[in-house]
Amino acid sequence: MAEKILVVEDEIPLQETLSYNLEKQGYVIETASDGKTAIDKAYSFLPDLIILDVMLPVMDGFEVCRTLRQEMNTPIIMLTARSDEIDRVVGLEVGADDYISKPFSMRELMARVKALLRRVRLMTETMNQKSSKDKCDNAIISGNLKIDQSRHEVSLDELILNLPPKEYDLLLYFLNHKRHILSRSQILENVWGWEFSGDSRTVDVHVSWLREKIEKDPDNPLRIITVRGSGYRFEG
Ligand code: CA
Repeated sequence: MAEKILVVEDEIPLQETLSYNLEKQGYVIETASDGKTAIDKAYSFLPDLIILDVMLPVMDGFEVCRTLRQEMNTPIIMLTARSDEIDRVVGLEVGADDYISKPFSMRELMARVKALLRRVRLMTETMNQKSSKDKCDNAIISGNLKIDQSRHEVSLDELILNLPPKEYDLLLYFLNHKRHILSRSQILENVWGWEFSGDSRTVDVHVSWLREKIEKDPDNPLRIITVRGSGYRFEG
């Protein structure tokens, strides 16, 4: 079945170019030209992926992303006007999965779209396969923390934590490399992969979110330790 993409962009020529190129790749497209319509369409069209411009009338892209993230996990690629670090960091903070700076080549955008959809598809397939086979043979336990890989579920003291996909991946990576010193670039490469062009700040932001969820006192972490000048070490 064709995957659905919601294109949110108020510059009509760009919106049309994006739609045209995506349709040519076989995707089913719906469009929106302002933030409010974007949210309505996200709920009615239920896209597999959203391409979201930051500068939009009525409600900007950050606000749209923040609002959608309260209810849906649909992957979001943000379009930023310039390669501004602030835009990138804010974009990731409000829950975008990737971003691309204008001007960009259609080819690059298509590659990002494909990569992100493939990642989500693989994750869903793995989840389905595993949950139909065995629901509990794939858990990693570390103290009061448990990752159930079959269900993609993390719990702390039996309470389920709702981790966004990247935080889940990051925690899993830490758990599989317990007590190793992991540099930021090593983490970026293994958790975000080659298709992501973020910087080490991305890792720090995600580590601080994880700490909020799994540390008793996030300001004095005992699980994810900062190793000065090197990176991070997961203690368990
Ligand atoms: Ca715009």
